[in-house]
Amino acid sequence: MASLYFDYNSTTPVDPQVLEKMLPFFKEQYGNASSLQHQWGWAADTAVKKARKQVANLIGAEPHEVIFTSGATESNNWSVFGVIDQIRSEDPHAPIHLITNPLEHSSVKNSFLYAQKFRNVELDFIPVDSYGMIQMDRLKSLIKPHTKLISVMWVNNEIGTVYPIQEIAELCSSQKIYFHSDATQALGKMDVNMKSSPVDLLSFSGHKIYAPKGVGALYIRSQNPRVSLSPLMTGGGQEKGLRSGTLNVPAIVGLGEACELAQKHMSTEIPRLKELQGLLWSELQKNFSGIRLNGHPTLRAPNNLNVTFAQKLPPEMSHIAVSRTSACMSGAATASPTLLHLGLSEEEAHNTLRISLGRWTTPEDVKNLILELKKALKT
Ligand code: PMP
Repeated sequence: MASLYFDYNSTTPVDPQVLEKMLPFFKEQYGNASSLQHQWGWAADTAVKKARKQVANLIGAEPHEVIFTSGATESNNWSVFGVIDQIRSEDPHAPIHLITNPLEHSSVKNSFLYAQKFRNVELDFIPVDSYGMIQMDRLKSLIKPHTKLISVMWVNNEIGTVYPIQEIAELCSSQKIYFHSDATQALGKMDVNMKSSPVDLLSFSGHKIYAPKGVGALYIRSQNPRVSLSPLMTGGGQEKGLRSGTLNVPAIVGLGEACELAQKHMSTEIPRLKELQGLLWSELQKNFSGIRLNGHPTLRAPNNLNVTFAQKLPPEMSHIAVSRTSACMSGAATASPTLLHLGLSEEEAHNTLRISLGRWTTPEDVKNLILELKKALKT
């Protein structure tokens, strides 16, 4: 594994154990999971059932509450439009008010903005403080009698702030409002449990937890309350008729295995990451005067640091895998809207790095990173 890879929030490599489990489903067991008339189909179907259980176990859900998708973008879009379309299918003129966090990933935020523009819904954003933390009292005051859906991510993908999901979920539950959370950056890094948290819809992607890209899931609560979502795609009726299309068996097997591994290693991996994060932050402070941490100082993901340097960053550092803005926007020269929202100037935003750690990061890697950054910043 390349030692200067510090972009695990953007994507992770596939764990060799995950790959191993996937390979037979490309080679010998290539059946269609819907072909239940022969043994190739049965093998694929059995593998998908196992994966659904592995995913459900990680998030404290029932297997039938897990619908496989192509990833968090799809799950997020579906949550927003699926709720709206379902309500409108019952009452075409129902007033709908939605609330979200201004620092959501673009796949959530843009879905809400699109709905506001083209689906005749009202939308409010929850005010956030300088750590990117939402203000609960402000959220409460935004709720209207026709508020139908609130969405707040579990962990911010850029600044690592962890949101008060339990509190928001309980608030929504008490007001009979659906609550959606994008848990893409939380899974495997903290307890995400649908038995103890009344979250109604939960999105995530495989490639942030050492499964391949292009696979993910949406958890849809089946009782207390039973969430009704309009189908995402119609066709052959796969995934309970909600998301038709031939299942991507190898990727689904990979997602299942990655969830099982995450669950197995979480109790040792979280403290290990926290220690590395502490080492990285103290080394950064020692070596780069005036450096500042963005996001919440304590309520943050164990693998993420988002830091603004007092020095100007060079235009390019392609030998070091760190992120200068949200991964999906990398390449664009514009400053991160999230950082600007927190009050950073354009210049400060450009001198900011997101450094994210993962399963194969070692203390040596952290020290190498510091050396390379010192060279790059000429300090
Ligand atoms: N939500 C969050 C919080 C993310 O970090 C990402 C990936 N950057 C996504 C959604 C989108 O995931 P995908 O590209 O796998 O659909």
